Amino acid sequence: MPRSKRKVAAIAYGLDFRPMFSRFFKRHPRQPVIERPVWEACAAQMPFLEELDAGSLEKLFDLADRFAEQKDFTGTHGFEVTDSVRAAIALQACLPILRLGLDVYADFVEIIVYPDRFMTPRSVVDESGVVHESVEELSGETMPGGPVVLAWPDIDPAMGAPGLSVVIHEFAHKLDMLDGEADGIPPLNQAARARWIERLEAAYSQFCDMLERVESEIPIDIDPESEAADRYYARLPLDAYAATDHAEFFAVASEAFFTMPEAIRDIFPDLHEMFTEYFGWRESAATTGSGGPAY
Ligand SMILES: [Zn+2]
Repeated sequence: MPRSKRKVAAIAYGLDFRPMFSRFFKRHPRQPVIERPVWEACAAQMPFLEELDAGSLEKLFDLADRFAEQKDFTGTHGFEVTDSVRAAIALQACLPILRLGLDVYADFVEIIVYPDRFMTPRSVVDESGVVHESVEELSGETMPGGPVVLAWPDIDPAMGAPGLSVVIHEFAHKLDMLDGEADGIPPLNQAARARWIERLEAAYSQFCDMLERVESEIPIDIDPESEAADRYYARLPLDAYAATDHAEFFAVASEAFFTMPEAIRDIFPDLHEMFTEYFGWRESAATTGSGGPAY
């Protein structure tokens, strides 16, 4: 057969069989890697998921199952990663990407889980150039292109505290670092980026002022680092750690946006509107009378 005719025959052969293959794949949908009852039991421990309507919850389950399939979960220091552990991490990690999709997490595969908080050496250079070495206790950590490290007691949904999610926090850092830098600004087009910077900075400085006020109200005989000072910090809409810098503010505010949205909606309405668009999410009709997720 002449070369040109062989080519035509090959194309015709391919076209003939393509519809058959697509029918074959349609009849065999993807099998979940974690069983349905595990997802449902895990979701039941996360009251903030009640904000999702049925269709969005299905979308989250599907996204989380694909996430669980693609990522390598490693338990360290004797911690055993079960399907329930994988589900708890995957559901919270995928909540911020319902609109963005799984591809935004393509730059890493490993998730390391410790049985308890873990110690990390820190090295800080002060203004006079002196290096201070210390060891810090952490419940989560991540870096650009690297693994996400989590401590189980702080991510166990059964122990969850309103407004806090170490998993959402660390994965918000992942979104922030998609353009390399942890600066509280994820990749956006030029106009959206300008608006983001303006609103994030305004909310950040508003929060820093609130923190300053609260700190000035702590009586002199109470150590601000002690538990006795906690009731003063409880007046803040976010964990005081949000004042560290713009990156931490974005991560802490993201935790609150999903798990205790009224704190963000009432105190930082412009930030709330921006997050709603970015994450493709708004509270359910039951909470606000305004309908389900916005995607
Ligand atoms: Zn952080």
